[in-house]
Amino acid sequence: MNRTLVVVGHGMVAHRLVERLLAGDTHRRWRVVVFGEEPWPAYDRIRLSGCLEGTGAAELLLTTPALLADSRVEMWTGTRVAEVDREHRMVRTEHGERHLYDALVLATGSRAFVPPVPGGDAPGCFTYRTLDDVETIRASATPGDGAVVVGGGLLGLEAANGLRTLGLRTHVVELAPRLMPIQLDGPGGSLLADIVRGRGMDVRCGVALERVDRGADGRVVSVTLTDGTVLDASMVVFAAGVRPRDELAAGAGLPVGPRGGFLVDELCRTTDPRVWAVGECAAVAGRCHGLVAPGYRMAESVAAQLLRETPAPFRDPDLSTRLKLLGVQVASFGDAQADTEGALEYAVEEPPAGRYAKLVLSGDGRVLLGGVLVGDTEPFPRLRALVGHRLPASADALLRRG
Ligand SMILES: Cc1cc2nc3c(=O)[nH]c(=O)nc-3n(C[C@H](O)[C@H](O)[C@H](O)COP(=O)(O)OP(=O)(O)OC[C@H]3O[C@@H](n4cnc5c(N)ncnc54)[C@H](O)[C@@H]3O)c2cc1C
Repeated sequence: MNRTLVVVGHGMVAHRLVERLLAGDTHRRWRVVVFGEEPWPAYDRIRLSGCLEGTGAAELLLTTPALLADSRVEMWTGTRVAEVDREHRMVRTEHGERHLYDALVLATGSRAFVPPVPGGDAPGCFTYRTLDDVETIRASATPGDGAVVVGGGLLGLEAANGLRTLGLRTHVVELAPRLMPIQLDGPGGSLLADIVRGRGMDVRCGVALERVDRGADGRVVSVTLTDGTVLDASMVVFAAGVRPRDELAAGAGLPVGPRGGFLVDELCRTTDPRVWAVGECAAVAGRCHGLVAPGYRMAESVAAQLLRETPAPFRDPDLSTRLKLLGVQVASFGDAQADTEGALEYAVEEPPAGRYAKLVLSGDGRVLLGGVLVGDTEPFPRLRALVGHRLPASADALLRRG
């Protein structure tokens, strides 16, 4: 082992990178030092909502006994890297320890975005990103109380469902005119809202949080919306989007993307040939990706570069999504919003059956560009694989076939 890789951040993507590098490093050239700010090593953040329903934190951990026992790896939990000194090829932790590197991978993920509303920092307000967040929410929940989830996207709906299972009266407040505004269109979003309401939750779209109201003890007692509605609540959970954690960039003299994130090329390289960024903190060609699958592809690519294998450039990420909670099946893929010029839409609406399906087709109706499925996502894998290809059957047959 004559080369040291330092990885900053120990989330899902860093974990994939470390596993892949160690598995491929048959000549044992690399020593890996990983710093994670959270008190746990990497865990399955995607299954975090399960912790509101009783999944233990230990069940989420991704590290295996073999990895923890691997003499090539040094893992620092509860340790934030405070500075990157590229000139001396060194990182400094918040505790002042210095570690040299031959290669550095930044995998610092994202933080939850909290809209700047008055009272948004009151006791009883939470973000929804880490095991700590979820454990604190669970410990603070009082069954029968009201809870407001700010954000009606994938994360907000997961949070809302978790709060409902904890016995809270749950309201979802979404600024956009529909739920899951990035993935769904109008009819799909409105069917989903009906289904969510049918599960006992209150859904309000097209309205924002005006302020969080505090009681005499300073804690949350209600929220006021921009339309004047007041919702009683002892808890507010912000699930209104994320921002890449690029705070190390300025001190390190590394450029960031137009919306933040360490700016990297299609091989996840920064302007420094010894420094890469992967996962949600990486702005690949200027754009960050908030799903794990693109992050895993970046990790694979950087591991290949460190192993001197041929790396796959990161292009055309698969941004398809499938909602996995609430017992509601929702999927969207490709150009779900029909943004392509001249695109045609073919939809089958069956609200009584709780089903909506739409295909987006090229202007000549021959090529599948994307789609939305609510209520039944059985055709999802087949349809997603067809994106960019000529339709093998009529749109109607594709949607109706079991
Ligand atoms: C509840 C929930 C459900 C989700 N569901 C899905 C889903 O269904 N499908 C999907 O694709 N994605 C989902 N996601 C998103 C997915 O979890 C992320 O895309 C993925 O975790 C990104 O991995 P990452 O390693 O880039 O970042 P992270 O997992 O955020 O890890 C980054 C780590 O770096 C640490 N860190 C940051 N700065 C420093 C520093 N200076 N020093 C040391 N450590 C640092 C952070 O504390 C963190 O632990 C979900 C997310 C949440 C919160």
